[in-house]
Amino acid sequence: MRKLAKLDHQFVWHPFTQMRDWLKREPVVIAAGRGAMLRDIHGREYLDANSSIWTNLHGHNHPKINAAIRRQLGKIAHSSALGLANEPASLLAQKLVEAANPRSRRGDEADGSKNQRSASLPRRLQKVFYSDDGSTALEVALKLAYEYTRRSGRAKQPKFLSLEGAYHGDTVGAVSAGHIDLFHKCYSGLLFKTDKVMAPYCYRCPFNRARPERADARAYRKCNWECVGLVERKFAAQQRKGNPYAAFIFEPRMQGAAGMIPQPEGWLRRVAEIARRHGALLIADEVMTGFGRCGVESRKSRVEGQTANQHHLSTLDPRLSTFFACHHEGVQPDFLCLAKGLTGGYLPMAATLTTRQVFNAFLGEYEEFKTFFHGHSYTANQLGAAAALASLDILQSQQSLRARENLEKTLHAELQALWSLPQVGDVRQVGLVAGIELVRDWRTRAPLALRDRAGTRVCEAMARNGVLTRPVGNVIVLMPPYCTTPRQVKTIVDVLQTAITKTFR
Ligand code: PMP
Repeated sequence: MRKLAKLDHQFVWHPFTQMRDWLKREPVVIAAGRGAMLRDIHGREYLDANSSIWTNLHGHNHPKINAAIRRQLGKIAHSSALGLANEPASLLAQKLVEAANPRSRRGDEADGSKNQRSASLPRRLQKVFYSDDGSTALEVALKLAYEYTRRSGRAKQPKFLSLEGAYHGDTVGAVSAGHIDLFHKCYSGLLFKTDKVMAPYCYRCPFNRARPERADARAYRKCNWECVGLVERKFAAQQRKGNPYAAFIFEPRMQGAAGMIPQPEGWLRRVAEIARRHGALLIADEVMTGFGRCGVESRKSRVEGQTANQHHLSTLDPRLSTFFACHHEGVQPDFLCLAKGLTGGYLPMAATLTTRQVFNAFLGEYEEFKTFFHGHSYTANQLGAAAALASLDILQSQQSLRARENLEKTLHAELQALWSLPQVGDVRQVGLVAGIELVRDWRTRAPLALRDRAGTRVCEAMARNGVLTRPVGNVIVLMPPYCTTPRQVKTIVDVLQTAITKTFR
């Protein structure tokens, strides 16, 4: 074993990893990366098929992001945001606010004065609170929503509602909002209580009366939106208790760590309207889904409450398209939590965007101590902000828009081959993310036992053939960087197909 691998074994404790298994084999030690490729210390190359745990957008070693970081490094790497402003963080906040408030084709921006009780777009996100990663972006939203609710007199003990299977990070607040027993149960004594409600999971939904087909379960489901009915009932029951939910927390369009579970079109719009009707704030966790990951805005997508001509967000003008999944459903949250792709996958940085109303609730005389007492040492870090500015520039280019459109189509076309495998139960794609659920037999949807580690074994087989990704249980995740070429996409899917065939032989 090489020295670096030995050092790793001796000293490093890896996240979400059974270290007994880890220590049995030599780890892949990454030495370099370019585009969609990673190279290890032996010179072996791999396709980064999960964008380095969902962070990378435009590929590794991107000349524009590298140059932006170098330029910033020549000035300063970091100064504190506690008491000081800095150039790239201010510029980035402006850009994020612009991106978070998409314009209609006519050019009118959402207007905060209108329609505040509706979930649809006229509601402006105007303030950016920086932090370090997805978990802290959520912590900030939770604390702000909690205190805003108390200060506005809506509740003394604000209560949160999130989705079954929710995952919002690993810090204690984010874990409290999560509902994955495997990760979260053992810490229950540390957590505050949140409620959960059924998330749409068409493939395994007890209300879906359709027999399995060789297609994305959303396309052939037979139901009456019972899952939305359950959300309505949950809100109504809490209202009757005299303590309506303060906030509803969700990942828009696709739940990631829950197993790449996509929502049928219209679900988010419906439940957001319910939440609004009950006076709840909306907290959108776009840590995974943001920055174009959920695909290029569909031409059909509408912003409610406007006329057809006004509300089409153009797919062709990158300045008018949206990067955020909730906008695909015409939903504007009160809190937009961003991390992972914010810096193009270069540096840990996060942002929580919110409205002027929330911001105003923390204004007061010094001695009133209405200050938001929260902040991390590296908040608004200049290198991260410089990387993020460069990444946004790339994302807003015609070239990136076209690349993403093509990648989405190629991925869709290539994935079709997987339906020929009996152990592929569901193939679900939202934009540039796909989850492939492995089952014992597609005809019965019978799940594989977790302890058989089928997902892990398939990913290990893929790694041996030069494609890296991590499963979520028995769901294989494909989420390649936006620069991945059609040939590379084909390789990724071919390697996955071979790995599944060999694993189940
Ligand atoms: N929210 C979502 C939806 C995520 O997928 C993740 C991480 N996978 C997080 C929050 C937490 O982000 P981080 O790991 O950067 O703390």
